[in-house]
Amino acid sequence: MSKCYREVTAVDDVTLHVEQGEIYALLGLNGAGKTTLIRMLLGMITPTAGTVRVLGADVATGDRAAWARVGYLVERAAAYPELTVRENLDVVRRLRRLPGSANDIIERLALTPYADRRAGTLSLGNLQRLALAKALLHSPALLILDEPVNGLDPAGVAEIRALLADLAHQHGTTVFLSSHLLAEVARLATRVGILHDGRLIGEHDSDQLDRHRRRHLLVATRDDHVAHAVLQANGYHPEPATPSGLILTDEHALVRPEQVATVLVHGGAPPTGLHLQEEDLEAFFLRTVGGSPEPVSVTEAGHA
Ligand code: ATP
Repeated sequence: MSKCYREVTAVDDVTLHVEQGEIYALLGLNGAGKTTLIRMLLGMITPTAGTVRVLGADVATGDRAAWARVGYLVERAAAYPELTVRENLDVVRRLRRLPGSANDIIERLALTPYADRRAGTLSLGNLQRLALAKALLHSPALLILDEPVNGLDPAGVAEIRALLADLAHQHGTTVFLSSHLLAEVARLATRVGILHDGRLIGEHDSDQLDRHRRRHLLVATRDDHVAHAVLQANGYHPEPATPSGLILTDEHALVRPEQVATVLVHGGAPPTGLHLQEEDLEAFFLRTVGGSPEPVSVTEAGHA
């Protein structure tokens, strides 16, 4: 599907399929086209080219059957500010002609302490929870969420992550969400699609993400020059010395750092430090979208 606004191509020939029960995260920087794509999925805007099928229904034909099984959250969380949390949920319940009460969903989203507070007085995080509660009230088979963890504090993010994982794993709910926070979605999603300048430039199973991250062994010695020669003579390919030491990316060095230490000791350049460092997810993401060709930050993965 594609969407053009005059000279701007917001979504550029994107093809993607999401399987039932998957948690698919669409990842992209601001302006990548995430909201435009989600709005097309929801039939809020019409694609310039291509088709969109949601739960088997062609969105463009206005087939409404699927919508009873879809829950969604787009843009800012909206609620009636003068009504309480419970009253806001009751409005949706009545509109959707749902029996019972909103108590269950209030509890699941940890909104019980706020149930009788006016929505207008809620924090951004709790407003977001209310919006999610509204999206979940009718137990949808598919949830489409634009930036669902925006504005939440770390505890709130963790709760929403647990809730979505539970929905997908225990109830078979399919979740399609967008985010610009790779670290968050990598811990939640089963698959991640990377959208950049409107194009889908990569799709990874989340367990694959780790394999795509760059790792290196940082070797500190008292004499980098000697150490460089020793390592080269022993089949390693050290990069030119950096202020913090030599960098090895050879797979056998990463897997057996103790052998590197032994070689250096025998060669007369004992290491003063060996650190296995790993590109963090944000750096990986920036490198993937071309924002930064080299790892901009690394996390210590352990040391020998
Ligand atoms: P953000 O996280 O900032 O919302 P996004 O990934 O959701 O970013 P979109 O909002 O889909 O990105 O925007 C993608 C591109 O399309 C941007 O360049 C934006 O300026 C442009 N765009 C979006 N909506 C319109 C519109 N109604 N008219 C013209 N251009 C638009």
